[in-house]
Amino acid sequence: MPLTDLDRSLYEWQLDVPGFGESGQEKLRSSTALISRAGGLGGPLAFSLAAAGIGKLVIAHAGDLRLDDLNRQILMRHDDVGKPRAESLAATLRAFNPQVEVEVIPENITEANAAELVAKADIVFGAAPLFEERFLMNRECVRQGKPLIDCAMFSLEGQILPIVPGQTPCLACLYPEIPEHWKRRFPVIGAVSALAANIGAMEGIKLLAGFGEVSLNRMIYFDTATMRFQQIQVQRNPDCAVCQHVSL
Ligand SMILES: [Zn+2]
Repeated sequence: MPLTDLDRSLYEWQLDVPGFGESGQEKLRSSTALISRAGGLGGPLAFSLAAAGIGKLVIAHAGDLRLDDLNRQILMRHDDVGKPRAESLAATLRAFNPQVEVEVIPENITEANAAELVAKADIVFGAAPLFEERFLMNRECVRQGKPLIDCAMFSLEGQILPIVPGQTPCLACLYPEIPEHWKRRFPVIGAVSALAANIGAMEGIKLLAGFGEVSLNRMIYFDTATMRFQQIQVQRNPDCAVCQHVSL
């Protein structure tokens, strides 16, 4: 389907981006993205994908909004404290860009729903704080051959790993098990999670629209304490329990 006049008006400022253009916009508009959690990371990520004109967002996110979520969960409003987060998310995204279809799943990723949710999407963005959820997304994306942008942050640092099954390492190549010193509750400033989110969003937009250079086989790592950004070479683990049998 070619772009409509409304599409051209709405996305006018990005249609001139070199390599993107109308064909990139069309590809984006025909794509569905699954975001696992829309908290401090997934919220800004969903916002940026909606702004860019993704066709559909499927967002898996459970729980009620707490006051201490508001330093980073920018899709929420103060009045929503104590209410289900999924409803606030959907309302914010739909009001922001009614062109984007938004499906909110008021659950986090579990063994029971991972396969079904990944099957709905052309690309998956992993923005969950728990390794268990990140591993489930990774396993399902490898199994279904879907690209996964795994985004994570801790304190002032962030890391983004674009995973394309058969072409790059998967998350389990790098982390065969949950790291020993990993903690559920971690320090976070909203600007850091939003930065990681927007790097992840941009990698996904490039993958979907087919322009630019996606950071394949290079994990993006940054530390806002020093503002040093790096790309760290990563390799497939030939014995990886998840992806060892996947070939190009
Ligand atoms: Zn692997």
